Amino acid sequence: MDPTTTTTTSPTVTFLPGKRGALNAVVDGYRYTKNGSHKENVYYRCVEQKTCNARITLTGGSLSSSLPTHLHPSQEADLAVLQTKSDIKKKASSTDLSTKNIVSTSLGLLDFEGVARLGCQLSSLNRMSQRARRKANRTPPLPTSLEQISIPSSYLTNDHGENMMLWDSGYTVERRRSFMFGSIDSVNLMNQYDAVLAGLPRSNNFVEGWHNGFQTLVGGSNPTLWTFLTALKKEENITFAKKVKKMMGEGPEAKRRKWRLYDERLSSIVTDFEQYDPMDYLSCIGAILFDI
Ligand SMILES: [Zn+2]
Repeated sequence: MDPTTTTTTSPTVTFLPGKRGALNAVVDGYRYTKNGSHKENVYYRCVEQKTCNARITLTGGSLSSSLPTHLHPSQEADLAVLQTKSDIKKKASSTDLSTKNIVSTSLGLLDFEGVARLGCQLSSLNRMSQRARRKANRTPPLPTSLEQISIPSSYLTNDHGENMMLWDSGYTVERRRSFMFGSIDSVNLMNQYDAVLAGLPRSNNFVEGWHNGFQTLVGGSNPTLWTFLTALKKEENITFAKKVKKMMGEGPEAKRRKWRLYDERLSSIVTDFEQYDPMDYLSCIGAILFDI
């Protein structure tokens, strides 16, 4: 092999959404906008085209021309800002992460200079994220009065096509409106659970647990009507999976050992209530509760 042969790796080409949705090419810290194409070659020119005449050619997504000279410094900091904004929009439209979560994670792409060149308030990044999500979900406009609420059919059925709205009171003279959501299946399932739990309504901890889980599904504390209904649909998927598991003969998930022991101790004392001196009985129960 000829020892003088050197392999030159061409600079990495990345793409960023530019104005009007067209993708800009980013090479070596400069941004280029598409200028035309011929066969497999795509021609780009520097975005600062009023003052800079730099051009590149890409073939199959790789740089096939030499790197041009620009009449201005590189745009690294501006590119980081654009990348951050594009990252926020992408996450908002493709994930269920909260706005705060998306914005704070994406801000990690910016260093000191990047933040300085952000060119907008931090709160407008939140709004940008929310706008991108609305656009992606195409959620209907929010109703401004109870009378106006008209729920589109996509929110009225679960992912298995079953009806989810069991009742709508309509707009009443007391200016109230109630809806009942669920599937007939989930209502039946709840009744069977009630039967199993009939002997043990000791606490409402399991309801609290459900609320915590549901809040995670909603992803925030002041959801819009559409976000809330979307979360209900997701909850339905969990209920459906539980129902199938139950039909396959699987019992409820095992309690943690600590709670199982606690139940056993409490139940043995309560069963032997007659044999206890009242003060001893209360002390024992107190001791168990204190032990948790
Ligand atoms: Zn240039």
